[in-house]
Amino acid sequence: MTVNLLDFDADGLSAWFAEQGEKPFRARQVLRWMHRFGEADFDAMTDIAKSLRDKLKAKAVVAPPAVVSDKVSGDGTRKFLFDVGGGNAVETVFIPEDDRGTLCVSTQAGCALDCAFCSTGKQGFNRNLTVAEIIGQLWQANRALGADPKGERIISNVVLMGMGEPLANFDNTVKALRLMLDDNAYGLSRRRVTVSTSGLVPAMDQLREACPVALAVSLHAPNDKLRDELVPINKKYPIAELMAACRRYLEKAPRDFVTFEYVMLDGINDTDAHARELLAATRGVPCKFNLIPFNPFPGSPFRRSQPERVRRFAEILMVAGIITTTRKTRGDDIDAACGQLAGQVQDKTRRTAGRTFPLQEVRH
Ligand code: SAH
Ligand code: SF4
Repeated sequence: MTVNLLDFDADGLSAWFAEQGEKPFRARQVLRWMHRFGEADFDAMTDIAKSLRDKLKAKAVVAPPAVVSDKVSGDGTRKFLFDVGGGNAVETVFIPEDDRGTLCVSTQAGCALDCAFCSTGKQGFNRNLTVAEIIGQLWQANRALGADPKGERIISNVVLMGMGEPLANFDNTVKALRLMLDDNAYGLSRRRVTVSTSGLVPAMDQLREACPVALAVSLHAPNDKLRDELVPINKKYPIAELMAACRRYLEKAPRDFVTFEYVMLDGINDTDAHARELLAATRGVPCKFNLIPFNPFPGSPFRRSQPERVRRFAEILMVAGIITTTRKTRGDDIDAACGQLAGQVQDKTRRTAGRTFPLQEVRH
């Protein structure tokens, strides 16, 4: 059987090489070729003996998911759509800023958690992405973005905030994270790799032990009644338990705060009273807030909060001493904004029965 070497983290690759009777340093060399230099052709791995290259060619491939579309927005945001088989596609977004370049990566085709305001959730769940499909997004984006003439990293940050819930695809996500951090692969700092979760409490505890990186938590509501509606997983892991998990996570996290994401929904969760309730709910958790203006998609019942409302909401948090940023909506001309990642996914859960997807993708 042919194996895809992009499915292995460093330990997995060493183990596979050992099974082939090859030394660990050979695995490291191949890891570097694949991930540091973006090489998929064994024959181009010039410091590997011909006999080993022939063996690799017979037994293995380096196969990232294929790019099916690649679009650049007016603001420089670039969106890649990847084929992940079976008629499914997932999206990856590159967001250039003055001091960094952030790649927003997907971890599942669809998502089972069905948050009320999320187009991925509305597509239902299809399947977990493989390690090769997760790390392959970074592999392909690196290649497409090309080398920086000054030798600086083009992709300096990765956020797992694309389609899917990373902690619901735990093992593959952790292997991909390890590759992102590995000096023989992408060598990113733990502080510059962020997992975003809707609050899977047991998996947050596991992540803290397995591979602590920066953490963002999608909070979106200040009390359980509202959060139960907006983020249904709250019924299983309510806010008090989630806050306790955040505090435990911070014991081992590379940063000393959690980022709470909060989508601003007009008239739903955006009043002064909600902001004050939020301060009480998050008391005792070192945190920052990132307010996300809601990005509408066809069929969604919500409206984006007015800018003045967002400003006032942020002010209440700031006056209480919590650093609060408001996410600029970027890439919305190419449907690359948060929650608009509407790649084509076959809905195995039939959540969308009677509706047609893709929502927006085919318009371009
Ligand atoms: N499943 C993970 C990560 C992917 S979603 C999570 O929920 O955290 C990434 C972020 O985009 C989350 O904070 C999510 O709540 C937000 N988001 C989803 N739909 C959105 C929309 N329509 N407008 C703005 N943000 C949205
Ligand atoms: Fe899934 Fe995150 Fe969307 Fe909720 S917001 S449905 S957890 S991708």
